[in-house]
Amino acid sequence: MSQATRVLVLNSGSSSVKYQLIDMADGDRLALGIVERIGEGQGRIKHEPAGHLPRERYQAFPDHAAALSAVAEELAADGLGLDSPRLAAIGHRTVHGGTRFTEPTLITDEVVEELRELIPLAPLHNPANITGIEVARKLRPDLPQVAVFDTAFHAAMPEHAARYAIDKATADAHQVRRYGFHGTSHQYVSRRTAQLLDASPEAVNVIVLHLGNGASASAVAGGRCVDTSMGLTPLEGLVMGTRSGDIDPAVVFHLHRVGGLTIDAIDALLNRRSGLLGLCGDNDMREIGRRMGEGDPDARLAFDIYIHRLRKYIGSYYAVMGRVDAIAFTAGVGENSAAVREAALAGMEPLGIELDSVRNAVRGSSPRLISTDSSRVRVAVVPTDEELEIAQQTFAVVRRSADPGSEMR
Ligand code: ADP
Repeated sequence: MSQATRVLVLNSGSSSVKYQLIDMADGDRLALGIVERIGEGQGRIKHEPAGHLPRERYQAFPDHAAALSAVAEELAADGLGLDSPRLAAIGHRTVHGGTRFTEPTLITDEVVEELRELIPLAPLHNPANITGIEVARKLRPDLPQVAVFDTAFHAAMPEHAARYAIDKATADAHQVRRYGFHGTSHQYVSRRTAQLLDASPEAVNVIVLHLGNGASASAVAGGRCVDTSMGLTPLEGLVMGTRSGDIDPAVVFHLHRVGGLTIDAIDALLNRRSGLLGLCGDNDMREIGRRMGEGDPDARLAFDIYIHRLRKYIGSYYAVMGRVDAIAFTAGVGENSAAVREAALAGMEPLGIELDSVRNAVRGSSPRLISTDSSRVRVAVVPTDEELEIAQQTFAVVRRSADPGSEMR
């Protein structure tokens, strides 16, 4: 096998770049870090090489090119430079693949052009992703680079789950359909949950609850996504840190016509000033838990609305799949909040869901079961690892393109 087994994973946002260098030979994380406040005066790079102390540097990063150069410098200082022959590829987290990209894709000039055409679908995310791709390609033009899409795992959704019930011609003309997001996380966690159950992904039906600042649920039947809670954009579905999740679309007409708010103001309201933050002024579940402990009614109501929505999705995905083998909690809230997990599943014993309160209360960083031994539906906490999933998918694309016959043997 070639010596080139390392993959650099880049997650380029509008003002930040997160990165991880992973060796696919053993899954070891060689370094990770973040560059923040790109294009905003004084910025910061925090670099954490494995086995060494983290380093932090404050300086201006006028653009993504400057940010990626700084990442390259930091990696080089640890002997992990981008010019190393051991680097196999760069994998780019890419938010929206539309209907065009449903698989991790080797990046070419043509692919970049097509990504540009998808910008109207994800105006907040795709431009930064594309900038990251272009800068990285300039830095290492000869190196394979792969786009891994947040939407791809959900592309398998059946039409009846992916379509909104609106006029078909209008929907098609504007590519209005449910795409879903957090796909790499739902894919990773559903597969890891199957492993925890000692089963193949094809043999199990899993409800994955990705509860971070953004939150989404998915129904994964036999390894394929059959429904997910986010839609055309990441606004639909669960109550999130700052997003409303499901809402009657007529609220938008009402706020515009009667409330006099502009469309942009309503967009900002629903995406940035709603959810837990809008309901109680805090979007951190730890703070909400603390305030509830003090008897704060706003925090209590925000928590109750969050949980009510979560339970509705668990119930509907149960009904969609008919049989559920496991429910997996992941991301910041899902991995850490025993209170959310308990409230989300309380009273569901008649559905075969029995949480073990002692197991649920134990903190940990590895995948674990928190249901009772007799629970028909297993309940799991499975820490997500989107970077590892992106690295694996990137590496698989590179290996396939280097040796197209490899899959057949
Ligand atoms: P992002 O969507 O930004 O990647 P994360 O998956 O990191 O988010 O989740 C961030 C959220 O996780 C925080 O807003 C916080 O509410 C929640 N969180 C983190 N630790 C805990 C904890 N110990 N208890 C409850 N919630 C937590």
